Amino acid sequence: MAKRVLIIGGVAGGASAAARLRRLDEEAEIVLFERGEYISFANCGLPYYVGGTIENRKRLLLQTPKRFKARFNVDVRTKNEILSIKRGEKKIEVVNLTTGKKYCENYDKLILSPGSKPTRPPIPGIDADRIFTVRDISDADSINDFIEKHKTKRAVVVGAGYIGLEMAENLRQRGLLVAVVEIVDQVMPTMDREMANLLHQHLHEQSIALWLSDGVSGFSQSDSKLMVGLKSGMELACDFAVLSIGVRPEVKLARESGLVIGNCGGIKVNEYLQTSDPDIYAVGDAVEVKDFVLGSAALIPLAGPANKQGRIVADNLCGRNIKYKGTQGTAILKVFDLTAAMTGTSEKALKKTDIEYERLYIHPAHHVGYYPGARQMHIKLLFTKPEGKILGVQIIGSKGVDKRIDVFATAMRAGMTVFDLQELELAYAPPYGSGKDAVNMAGFVAANILDGTFNVKHYDELDSKDFVIDVRRSAEIARGAIPEALNIPVNDLRERLNELPKNKTINLSCAVGVRSYIASRILQQKGFKVKSLSGGYSTYLAYTAEKLFEAQTAKQLKEEFCTGL
Ligand code: FAD
Repeated sequence: MAKRVLIIGGVAGGASAAARLRRLDEEAEIVLFERGEYISFANCGLPYYVGGTIENRKRLLLQTPKRFKARFNVDVRTKNEILSIKRGEKKIEVVNLTTGKKYCENYDKLILSPGSKPTRPPIPGIDADRIFTVRDISDADSINDFIEKHKTKRAVVVGAGYIGLEMAENLRQRGLLVAVVEIVDQVMPTMDREMANLLHQHLHEQSIALWLSDGVSGFSQSDSKLMVGLKSGMELACDFAVLSIGVRPEVKLARESGLVIGNCGGIKVNEYLQTSDPDIYAVGDAVEVKDFVLGSAALIPLAGPANKQGRIVADNLCGRNIKYKGTQGTAILKVFDLTAAMTGTSEKALKKTDIEYERLYIHPAHHVGYYPGARQMHIKLLFTKPEGKILGVQIIGSKGVDKRIDVFATAMRAGMTVFDLQELELAYAPPYGSGKDAVNMAGFVAANILDGTFNVKHYDELDSKDFVIDVRRSAEIARGAIPEALNIPVNDLRERLNELPKNKTINLSCAVGVRSYIASRILQQKGFKVKSLSGGYSTYLAYTAEKLFEAQTAKQLKEEFCTGL
């Protein structure tokens, strides 16, 4: 068992490791170093503190050094930064940031959990003091102080990943006008484009101005405002900007001490989370993990994996030999009234591999439709062909998303296939779900695809020459339809078979994919060649939502930022 364990970084991974280690070993000497003022603070809660949902700043502090010492007998040293690791002597060099005094500490085992830092590319003007990043409590304090002091009206958020979108929502909630600038053509770049489209529409409805496919070329600051120059030539005038264009692992200490850094730029660790030095372990945002689905090395900076890795390292220091099996990137995000969640890999990532996959879209209600308040969810499921191994899931909806993504994530972890999803017995009563839950439905549809019960086609594969029949009622068609589609309601289909060609493939569409499936069963058994468009018109809308997003009001929102303050 370890005698003297030093831990660098006192938040998600570091604090978890320290607490678990103490629970397993009452005798070990544990010292936790944190260069910031606080340990174990809720960095995930920072955007909500800025937005005012979390009113009491103290609630962000999950532990204090005093309480941690009392509960776990850990020597916590905040405002102490590690300057170097002298591996040959098994020592670290520390500076006490309060006194400026430098000192060294010996270790038997060392745990690195230094996290990641916001990316700050060398864009002209990036060091302007009206540009903020969000990493710790002091960053949130600075933004809050700035908003109060300058009575700000407009903010630009650069980067539309989850931190950027959370900041955009919370700044809007503070009453600011907010623009989001994103270099790629969608928000939440870890999701697939057609799913993100649903978020674009909603952000627009919430008066967020979106500049997609446009990067920042430079910032310029005057006494009273910040100008954000875009590569397209546009200039946005605002009070301040929040930079959230990703994070980079903090590997300086590791690199300088000669530890191996992986190809993705994170600290390389083995499956026991041991670095290239057997006496040094590393966890959290700073390490390269194995992508649970693809098996490749990846950087997946999330709190859950960091916490679990901290625990595993403590186990391993106590001789338990626990393997970290990889990170599947299960993530969830509130975007105003919507929730966006994903687990596993995306289709755009799969396209870069040679994995044979299929996908499906379903749009079920989060509980039975007859019980008041049912809300639609949009689910995309990716799976291998023909085995049905679950590769990834993306869900967007206003209710019930969190529960479904966790069931999918658990099924993936357990190595279940889409066939197994059909059998899951999930809790049901009208206010909560359906006898055939959305997860079961995804399994039924996937199994139907894989066993040939119906042939699937996707809207992005549709050609203008393809023959499409929309089997919805004519009143539904009047509210919007795929151009050129012939309308034959499913209930009339059996009487109108003579209108249909036998020499070409009939593509069937409906509202969400249920009626087109029934229609495909009728036609297939009558000898027609048919394909069902996955997810029906709801999926079609997801693919084409950007047209709505470019509507007049979206332009007006953007114009606000192009005028002086
Ligand atoms: P951290 O928790 O960042 O801790 C690293 C600590 O090490 C830092 O406090 C740092 O000061 C300290 N340190 C670094 N170098 C030294 C040194 N040389 N000496 C001493 N101390 C040092 N994840 C989710 O899963 N869900 C969310 O909703 C979510 N929201 C987030 C919102 C925000 C605004 C941010 C910033 C992150 C969010 N995350 C979220 C990510 C999550 O917080 C991180 O993945 C997680 O905290 C990583 O844990 P870690 O231990 O690796 O690093």
